[in-house]
Amino acid sequence: MTTGLPAINGDRLWSSLMEMAKIGATAKGGVCRLTLTDLDKQGRELLIDWAAGVGCAHEYDAIGNLFLKRPGRDNALDPVMTGSHLDSQPTGGKFDGVFGVLAGLEVFRTLEEHGLATQAPLELTVWTNEEGSRFSPPMLGSGVFTETFALDWAYGIKDDAGIRVGDELARHGWIGNAIGNHPVAAYFEAHIEQGPVLEAESKTIGVVKGAQGQRWFEITVLGQEAHAGPTPMAMRKDALVCASRIVQAVNAMGFEHAPHACTTCGLIKVIPGSRNVIPGNVWFTVDMRHPDDAELAAMAGELHDVSTRIGQEQKCAVQIDPFWEFHATPFDRGCIDLVRQGADAWGYAHMDIISGAGHDAVYMAGKVPTGMIFVPCENGISHNEMENAKSEDLAAGCQVLLHAVCGKAGLAG
Ligand SMILES: [Zn+2]
Repeated sequence: MTTGLPAINGDRLWSSLMEMAKIGATAKGGVCRLTLTDLDKQGRELLIDWAAGVGCAHEYDAIGNLFLKRPGRDNALDPVMTGSHLDSQPTGGKFDGVFGVLAGLEVFRTLEEHGLATQAPLELTVWTNEEGSRFSPPMLGSGVFTETFALDWAYGIKDDAGIRVGDELARHGWIGNAIGNHPVAAYFEAHIEQGPVLEAESKTIGVVKGAQGQRWFEITVLGQEAHAGPTPMAMRKDALVCASRIVQAVNAMGFEHAPHACTTCGLIKVIPGSRNVIPGNVWFTVDMRHPDDAELAAMAGELHDVSTRIGQEQKCAVQIDPFWEFHATPFDRGCIDLVRQGADAWGYAHMDIISGAGHDAVYMAGKVPTGMIFVPCENGISHNEMENAKSEDLAAGCQVLLHAVCGKAGLAG
């Protein structure tokens, strides 16, 4: 098929990405732009400036999600939305999230440059706190927008310094429109894959069919603190030894449920944390993922069984607390088809793929027709200062985004 759509400007997209990457740039070539910090504000202000240059007004909602609005021919129609996030991990890269935002901006710039209007209005959205590293849980802005999380609960979340989300939003002047009355016709998000599959398969575009289910747990192991010298090995209740065996079991479970399961223990605290004291209390996290909810539920059951057994063997009490979860989420058939058609129309090698990471699109998919476009990243590395992607792949992803957004919004004749 022919699209009748112009080519996006890949060089302009790349230079915008490099310009944004200067805000919070790290010595190792990455980005540290934590959510709701002054750097986050600088990034958003740069974007607002750029969007104003193509005639877009901006507004916030009550959780500080930023909306840049490009009017359509018929503004009574619900807007077609695209976006992602500008916040990063503490040692994050230049592309995670930012690509989706600036690809959306490049779509607007291309339409403007060619004097093209869409029937429905378009909106470019920057979601608050996608990363979840400063304030947990992740995807907080899209979670509140879709009413997955209550606004007041979100306001009360604190960072390690005790600063509340609500206070940071107020400090920046980002508490805007009430939640719950913002119509959306469809949502598209372009993102780097954050995994190695597209590169290994020599594909430029991942047509994302949906997202894995995830379950996060916190595990507390209680043993007994004791002196590292006088306490014989056989008489110890060493909470760290017990925890380390559970960590091994969690890792083994990921292999047992291959090829689609992923299991990770990523954060651990040892109390009292002294080199000559047998640890009495260990707290750690478990992240389990699988595209099939039934399989994921089975894995959660196994986690309980294996932890209980290891706790008994090690004479420690083990408590497992569910922290966060969401179901495996299929995306909208029509949106998936538009992404695939866009890749075909522009001659990009593509494949269907399931998202292994959480994205704002996953919450949106529960409310509105949603699609995602993945492009490869170098060696599949993300959440890392080394994160890298090819300019031509990013341009291809942006081109497909233009196709999908215009396909949904309709080009005005
Ligand atoms: Zn991201």
